[in-house]
Amino acid sequence: MTSTSAAAAARATVHGYPRQGPHRELKKAVEGYWKGRVSADALGHTAAALRRDTWQQLAEAGVHEVPTGDFSYYDHVLDTTVMVGAIPARHRAAVAADPLDGYFAMARGTQDVAPLEMTKWFDTNYHYLVPELGPDTVFAADSVKQVTELREALALGLTARPVLVGPVSYLLLAKPAPGVAAGFDPLTLLDRLLPVYAEVLADLRAAGAHWVQLDEPALVQDRSPAELDAAACAYRGLGALTDRPQLLVASYFDRLGEALPVLAKAPVEGLALDFTGAAAGNLADLAAAGGLPGKRLVAGVVNGRNVWLNDFEKSLATLGTLLGLAERVDVSSSCSLLHVPLDVGVEREIDPQIARWLAFARQKTAEVVTLARGLSRGTGAIAAELAANRADLAARARSQLTHDPAVRARAAAVTGADGRRSQPYAERAAAQRAHLGLPLLPTTTIGSFPQTDQLRGARAALRAGRIDAAAYDERIAAEIREVLAFQEKAGLDVLVHGEPERNDMVQYFAEQLTGALTTQHGWVQSYGTRCVRPPILAGDLSRPEPMTVRWTRYAQSLTDRPVKGMLTGPVTMLAWSFVRDDQPLADTARQMALALRDEVNDLEAAGSSVIQVDEPALRETLPLRAAGHAEYLAWATEAFRLTTGGVRPDTQIHTHMCYAEFGDILRAIDDLDADVISLEAARSHMQVAGELATAGYPREVGPGVYDIHSPRVPGAHEATALLRKGLEAIPAERLWVNPDCGLKTRGWPEVRAALENLVAAARGIRDGL
Ligand code: GLN
Ligand code: ZN
Repeated sequence: MTSTSAAAAARATVHGYPRQGPHRELKKAVEGYWKGRVSADALGHTAAALRRDTWQQLAEAGVHEVPTGDFSYYDHVLDTTVMVGAIPARHRAAVAADPLDGYFAMARGTQDVAPLEMTKWFDTNYHYLVPELGPDTVFAADSVKQVTELREALALGLTARPVLVGPVSYLLLAKPAPGVAAGFDPLTLLDRLLPVYAEVLADLRAAGAHWVQLDEPALVQDRSPAELDAAACAYRGLGALTDRPQLLVASYFDRLGEALPVLAKAPVEGLALDFTGAAAGNLADLAAAGGLPGKRLVAGVVNGRNVWLNDFEKSLATLGTLLGLAERVDVSSSCSLLHVPLDVGVEREIDPQIARWLAFARQKTAEVVTLARGLSRGTGAIAAELAANRADLAARARSQLTHDPAVRARAAAVTGADGRRSQPYAERAAAQRAHLGLPLLPTTTIGSFPQTDQLRGARAALRAGRIDAAAYDERIAAEIREVLAFQEKAGLDVLVHGEPERNDMVQYFAEQLTGALTTQHGWVQSYGTRCVRPPILAGDLSRPEPMTVRWTRYAQSLTDRPVKGMLTGPVTMLAWSFVRDDQPLADTARQMALALRDEVNDLEAAGSSVIQVDEPALRETLPLRAAGHAEYLAWATEAFRLTTGGVRPDTQIHTHMCYAEFGDILRAIDDLDADVISLEAARSHMQVAGELATAGYPREVGPGVYDIHSPRVPGAHEATALLRKGLEAIPAERLWVNPDCGLKTRGWPEVRAALENLVAAARGIRDGL
């Protein structure tokens, strides 16, 4: 691209920034507050200092317009619930008594009151708190947080743009409050909600906002004509207000599709669009729709949810095209940088050559600034950055890490037969019955046993060099002996080793795979104060050595009963990592599957007759728009079958998933061709068992009878009742008895009691059959 003198100086901005601070100061302060160790004042000061540091850093990096209001003690959707006054009835007293404690009560619940439900923010690994609304909901504006944070930024002499969850997305993300008919549509509350937004907008204007951003990511999903009409109506209404700042309506994570013309026609002054990844189609759609004449376009050309270096030439080409399509074009991240870690610069264990391919929030900010400069002043103004960018991209493209000929040859040679078990399910099932000799209603667990402080302490001690590998291994071996002894005594039929050696079900494997990187400080907020460090799948993937065989074999040596080998499946490995963006996800999934296939085959060779491949993320990675579902499910199920397809007919393959709603992927679950599936079902009273039966699912099923998300110990009668419910749908020959999920977050006393009750329930019913 040559000089773009026609462009008004493009501004650099971002939609939001990581909240936790370089040393997770916010997490520590909030958790300290919960424990009574940090006062409300001190928490407030920590938070204000973090916001100030973030804005100053952004400004120093060259960002022209900083976001405000994106900060949160827990979750920005919960903040929106407070802003519109939609406090659920059960939390009102707590909020009235103390707004901060009431806020945390909504987020986490108290002894007496349940929290709001938490669910995934679109297809990211961030979780938000679901608003609860009903026909009686009364909204009332509370703009204090938004106004305060705007004033803080303005006081620093910065240009600031408050960022709010938009009214349409807020309602689309909500659910009917408890006691309200499930058919209630929160979107019917739009007319009542808009005056509240009008009031907040007026307050922000009075406080000095020139622009306010309203995030409408829910509009990138498949939306009905009625929902699109509601969006049109909402922005007609907000646009018509006289006392308001200029409005920037933002969307991200996918194409706006049918919603694009709706927003383009709306009387708002600007749109922010995502031009990366799944949303890249926005470019052609925008051109086809005739652009945004007279409007500001904030172009999200720097991917805000993945960790790779931007391709400057490609982004400048996109920006160049966009210049002709809007009144002015500014440069931004595609979405809030909340979804990426803070700074690659602090990673000491990543090879510096490879670190150059990565961009976390700080690096992405610099990219946005560089691109804005290039757009305003021409590529000559960023010649050095462009040259460095080109060199880094070229190094990545020709690196051995991203191009391992052996991995590529193997992936290319995969045939349909590799993903097919040697016998159909019915024959395998008979062979497995003969081989395993299990009773009816066999009992088992999902894999992990409590991760005690001692175990975590031992891992920390090993990392710090206070104990050596031999001492750590002895600690793990002792734990496995205890877990095995307990299971034998409790009378479980298929045992597990308890996963004591695993820090995390994805990281543990990523650490052992060639082509995957792990970070030391790459924390990303998952929900509230919980942060995770997703691995980075940077290159071609292979498994140099067995990863789980040693401990599984050790556990098997301690018992005559079968011990389940335990692996995280390929789809979940991808879903909970940052994935490379230089090849299709399907290719990465296939490489991962082949690496895991080696592990499955090695486990079988080492004597495992039962092997579980966990895929809890299969459902959550479903693309946002239905048009993408079939393609995704095709490669995802292929990856699972490739992982498990190489074992003998009499080796039993289990899988596990823990989302309650499987309706739209029942077909895919069958396509996995696993022999046994365990699922979360305790809270929904075995609903999934009925769904599977109705769909004609022919295999063995273990719907969970113990809700492991709660410290409550279900009694034997409770498990019995759930099992009877399960038996109405699934015949005894195909029903397993197990908890909902792994036990790692629970304490030993509860686990002991609950599993003893579970075995008693299974035996009671078994005896009566
Ligand atoms: N095997 C894993 C465990 O028990 C499964 C965890 C999960 O489904 N999230 O911990
Ligand atoms: Zn689970």
